[in-house]
Amino acid sequence: METGKAAVWLAKHSIETRSIPIPDVQEDGLLIRTEASGVCGTDGHLIEGDPPYPAIMCHEICGKIVEMGSRANETLNVYGGPLKVGDRIALYPWIMNPRSEGCLKYGPGTCTVTNDSFVYGIPFPKLGLEGDEIISSRVDEAPYFKGGFAEYVYVFPDTYVWKLPDDMPSEVAGLLDPLAVAVRSVELAQTAPGVHEEAFNTSSQVVVVGAGPVGVLTALVCRMMGVEKVIMIGARKTRLRLSKEVAEVDEIIDIHEMDSTDRIQRVKDITSGGADVVIQCANVTSAFVEGLEMIRRLGTLVETGNMVNQGSEVMIDPAKHICLKHARILGMSANHPGAFDKAFHILKRHQKIPFTKLFTHHCGVEGVLDTLGHMRDQDYMKGLMTP
Ligand SMILES: [Zn+2]
Repeated sequence: METGKAAVWLAKHSIETRSIPIPDVQEDGLLIRTEASGVCGTDGHLIEGDPPYPAIMCHEICGKIVEMGSRANETLNVYGGPLKVGDRIALYPWIMNPRSEGCLKYGPGTCTVTNDSFVYGIPFPKLGLEGDEIISSRVDEAPYFKGGFAEYVYVFPDTYVWKLPDDMPSEVAGLLDPLAVAVRSVELAQTAPGVHEEAFNTSSQVVVVGAGPVGVLTALVCRMMGVEKVIMIGARKTRLRLSKEVAEVDEIIDIHEMDSTDRIQRVKDITSGGADVVIQCANVTSAFVEGLEMIRRLGTLVETGNMVNQGSEVMIDPAKHICLKHARILGMSANHPGAFDKAFHILKRHQKIPFTKLFTHHCGVEGVLDTLGHMRDQDYMKGLMTP
């Protein structure tokens, strides 16, 4: 029996490298050999707890097709197909139930209430949804390879995949998922209920809070959309430097250099009264209120960073923070394939952007746990597993 290596999440802070059987490929699926698996903040959050059952983490997946079912081109949602053995692909990690109420009403993946679903690399009970898992993430159930921290990944029918052009390195494609989160956060800011409230345009001054991978990529997307100014607020020197090098932000505010009151004042000074849009990408609850303080009247706040912080609360003053400002607050936690497609085209078109500088830590299958342990280091931005 042929086997492949996988980093199996067994318990809190416990991952073991195991050899598991390479599965038979069904006629409606395919098997990839992993080429680039991005280490996400979500993985760092997951390892702080126990899995519901042994499973393989990682949902930011790119690999080369090694075996393909005869009907896979019809059963997968292929951008840029048809596919053949040897092609490299990147995937959208959610498999949705297209007949769920949310998908029918708003389009696949646009709502966060796709209750019956599957996500590569995240066991369903960890998603915080109601409903049932449509595919089990258990590593001991065929086809075993259901997350990116492994030598192979089995790709199920209904998965959305992008065929990579020859000149797109797999490492770059490994950023498709976080870049799509950035695209979606910007997309939300672009939705405007009317001309008067239109917030995101060439005259907009945008604050991005949090200089992690999603924050830096969000700043980059804002610049590509042609906004007037992008201000980055962050904490770690390496990240602030990378937000200059990769996203070319206009202004940087290091949170260690001023307290919250001064930061708010600084933003008001730079923007002559307040930001049009704040996109909050920091995993810090108080940053939400600070963001509300930073927006001007008719401003928009997109809250992306606190999606993993369920249960931690903050105080707001609804009159001051929302009503008097006519503020818009938009939440972001799930994504849709259309945003991935926009992200894919950014990666394809803008090859001169030094995207791969964001990967500060590299590892193989055996090094996943160690890399997750470095997540809070000063010089950590993002990890990449290549088997
Ligand atoms: Zn991710």
